[in-house]
Order: sequence, then structure tokens, then C-alpha cells
Amino acid sequence: HQKSLKKLKKTATTTEDGEEIDLLANIESAEDIKILHNIGADGVGLLRSEFSYLNRDTLPEEDELYQIYSDIAKKLKGKPLTIRTVDLGVDKNPRWFGNNGTPNAALNPALGLTGIRLCHAEPMMFRTQIRAILRAAVHGNVKMMFPMIASVSELKQSLIHLETAKKQLTERGETFGKIEVGCMIEIPSAALTVSSLLKLIDFVSIGTNDLIQYTLSVDRSDDSVSYLYQPAHPAIIKLLSHIIRTANRAGKGVSVCGEMAGDAVYTRLLLGLGLRKFSMTSNNLLAIKDIIVRSNTVNLVNDVAKIIRNEDPDKVDDLLKKLNQI
Ligand code: PEP
Ligand code: MG
Repeated sequence: HQKSLKKLKKTATTTEDGEEIDLLANIESAEDIKILHNIGADGVGLLRSEFSYLNRDTLPEEDELYQIYSDIAKKLKGKPLTIRTVDLGVDKNPRWFGNNGTPNAALNPALGLTGIRLCHAEPMMFRTQIRAILRAAVHGNVKMMFPMIASVSELKQSLIHLETAKKQLTERGETFGKIEVGCMIEIPSAALTVSSLLKLIDFVSIGTNDLIQYTLSVDRSDDSVSYLYQPAHPAIIKLLSHIIRTANRAGKGVSVCGEMAGDAVYTRLLLGLGLRKFSMTSNNLLAIKDIIVRSNTVNLVNDVAKIIRNEDPDKVDDLLKKLNQI
């Protein structure tokens, strides 16, 4: 099967009814770019930028980050590179943050000082990274997005840091590129207020890993409740439907970059919900492409409409199985 999938590398990712789909990769460093070229991915939908901050005693400096991001942007030769600003605080705890690399000791770290909250609490660190991203944008098609946004005020605050970073670069006489700006939708409050968030930015990317955790109140890393971690829970499908529809209507970009995007069980569901951009671990990309080229979005919209209306998880599972048998 792997061999026949390889043949798909050069095939356009187009559905039976002619919809063009973007298949992007989630990466963590420049080393991942090679695989991406090997499988013919359309670019990077999520660069998890945490690696530059971990396993060291000091914060990375602007020039170091600039070199890393420029290197990746150049290697992508004009294909999009979406850099997520640093998302630390739950399982990834840097040594320089005062707790020697151990996990966050708060009772509920996933509800605490993480992601964008930590960036706002450490503005020097945040703006250093933003400046590096802006400078790297000269070398390619660079986009930037903020993780764990929960409200319009938090997004506004992030955008003020972005403006300050631009001003600092201008004062220094440094050149920087124009970039698209977006945010992750991975907290239910952001999902429900996505139309207001989209007025301030160019795109959103749905982080289903956290969106499922927070919506269903199921710790994504706790095996004892993993049976409750249901990507196709009716509440999740309703949220996904709302986010994708709102972004499409507003003419703004929308992708899914959580694990759901690379899980073949949900490919047709996501297509039927109107998703046209998937970002995933490279390993899964050709298998997902294989499903997409054998799917018809016109038919899927009707079948998925029935799924959206159903609030019984067991029935939704049955409907999903039927969808995947076509
Ligand atoms: C997500 O939450 O779905 C996501 C892509 O971010 P991470 O897995 O890095 O939390
Ligand atoms: Mg997340």
C-alpha cells in the first residue's frame, strides 16, 4: 500500500468534483523539510517553535531565531511557512523559566499560564520572537499565528505586541517582510467568537488536540480517560462546522492542524464541513490524499448535514462509518 501511495506524490490534490485541497505539514525544525519535499506537501501549516526554547539555560536571541526561520523559509522556496509563536507551559517547560525543566506544578497547568498567556507575561521574549519572524519573512512566504487565544482582547493584545515589534525594527533600520497573521482556534471561547477574531486577522488554524480536550473536559494526555476523547463528539462537530463556515463566509483562511487533520477516519467529515486546508504530520499525508482524490464534496455536504444535526455520539459514529464506505 505504501508503494502505491508513493505514486500519489505528484498527483494534484483535487476531489472528484474538482475542489482543490491544500495538504500542509506540521514540523518542528528544519530537519523535517526533506520529508516534506519527498511527499510533495504544499508547505508548512504549523511550525511548532518550542524546540528553540527547550533544553537550554538561556532564552534564544533574535538573531538565532532569525537564522532558523530564514533557513526553513528559504528551503520551502516560496511555499507557505506558518510559524506558531511559542506555546510553552504545560508539558514543555523550559529550564530558564525557573523550574528546571520539570512539568508545570500548578494543579491544572492546561488551564494556567500557558501559550499566549505566558507570552504576554514575558513580553521581551515574545517580541524577540516576533521580530525574528518578521525579519525572516523577507526570505519566503512566512505567516505567523498565536496559540491558545481565548478572546478578542487577548488577540488585540498580541497584535499590539506585533506593532511594537515592527516599530522596534523600523527604529533599528532593519528590513522585514509583510506577513499574514492568524491565530489558533483551540479553546471553545475562541471557537464561539471566531467571527470577531477574524475581523482582526487573515486566517485561523483549528487546533483540535486542545479544542477536544477543553470542550469535552478530557485531559489529552491522561490514558485513564482516553476513551472519552472523541474527535467526532457532536459538540466538536458543531464547533468545527461553525468555525469553518464562518471563516469561509468571511473569505478568510481556515485550516485544521490538530491530529484530526491527519486521521483518515475524519477526512471526509472535514471535507463535508467545508475544510480545504489540512495540516498534519508528514507520515499521514499521502494516505489522506488518497482519500481526498476519491471523495466528492457535493455529496459529502448533504451527508455531513445529517451528522451535524445529530447529537447522539453513537449514531454519529455509525453515520461516519457510512460516510467512509462510499
Ligand atoms: C492542537 O492543539 O491541536 C495543536 C495543533 O497544538 P499542540 O498539539 O501543539 O497543542
Ligand atoms: Mg494546542
